[in-house]
Amino acid sequence: MTPSSRIVALICAAGVGARMGYPYPKQYHRLLNEPILTHTVNALLGVERIEEVVVVVQPNDPWIEEVAARWPQRVTVLPVGGPTRAESVRAGLMSLVADENTWVLVHDAARPCVKPAEVAHLLDAVLTDAQVDGGILAIEVADTLKRANDQGYIEATVSRERMWRALTPQLFKAQALYKALSGDLNHITDEASAMERIGARIKLVKGRATNIKVTTPGDDEMAERFLSALPTSSSMIIPSCENTMPALRIGQGYDSHRLVEGRPLIIGGVEIPFEKGLDGHSDADVLLHAITDAILGALSLGDIGTHFPPSDEKWKGADSAQLLSAVMQLVHQKGWRVGNLDATVVAERPKFGPYKATIQARVAQLLEVEPDCVSIKAKTNEKMDAVGRQEGMVAYASVLLMKA
Ligand code: MG
Repeated sequence: MTPSSRIVALICAAGVGARMGYPYPKQYHRLLNEPILTHTVNALLGVERIEEVVVVVQPNDPWIEEVAARWPQRVTVLPVGGPTRAESVRAGLMSLVADENTWVLVHDAARPCVKPAEVAHLLDAVLTDAQVDGGILAIEVADTLKRANDQGYIEATVSRERMWRALTPQLFKAQALYKALSGDLNHITDEASAMERIGARIKLVKGRATNIKVTTPGDDEMAERFLSALPTSSSMIIPSCENTMPALRIGQGYDSHRLVEGRPLIIGGVEIPFEKGLDGHSDADVLLHAITDAILGALSLGDIGTHFPPSDEKWKGADSAQLLSAVMQLVHQKGWRVGNLDATVVAERPKFGPYKATIQARVAQLLEVEPDCVSIKAKTNEKMDAVGRQEGMVAYASVLLMKA
């Protein structure tokens, strides 16, 4: 992979999926309370190297708007779907701004159980191999294969030697794939078949059996089990928290600052009248620092010091609300959103009661949630220890992140 390689995921969600028998396309059927398409989008958002996720739907799709309203900015919806899958992919590629270093991972909307780790494995396998033009996730055929005659009787046993079942995602350079899809699209059932036709060398990368395509009744129940399941025995990749946990992550944060004269007291982004303020490199907002650390903790991305080192002059006097906003960008990039926050400030004085609602509203705004998702509590330390002697203040925060 050259440093300039850009990876875009293209999810084909323009089919009607009539075989499932729903009154709406199958990608909008809910599994574990979320549309299949949202699970699929989330799986690809879980792959860090994917810059953008593009979802191709039919023009005038009446369901997409509501479903897409909760997706992060990294997802773009293109209402350019055509009558066949190949035409939809071609139309999606046409709308992409793709240079020669753009790779596209084409994925079926109806494969919600794909794991970020297996997509990352495909990216590694293809982008580190200069000999190949692309690659696909696939599974070696384990069953004996029979070819039937017109009456449904066995005509022959077909050797399963070197036979693979093609899954998605399938990874190719966007420009090459567009060219490959520019010819006759009859008999093109996946992107690889179009690329094979122009002589591309395509790698088969072993995927997981759990990456099923929800196609016929009963598949939805199986997919739901895979989505909620812990790692299965078919895992070939070491399960990471990202691909085995349900759509929740928890984090906790703690911070402390000394009280000094001649500084404003800023708590939760709100200036509170008091004879002293908290001392620190930034504005020393002890509450926002604890919240920021809780979020970074939920993402397993270190702490506030790693991201905004006090040794860096850039953060001198920094507005902690800006630091928190930068961390919220990371939350979005990783495909998460804040569920709720519970925080406690410990200080002997001043009384926080009159400012609690203002702090709650400001923190809710920063976390992009409704105020009732934010709890701010204030305690004294019963005159014990340094906080009790009014030498400083501390804050604690617990945050829950949910899949966006
Ligand atoms: Mg601090």
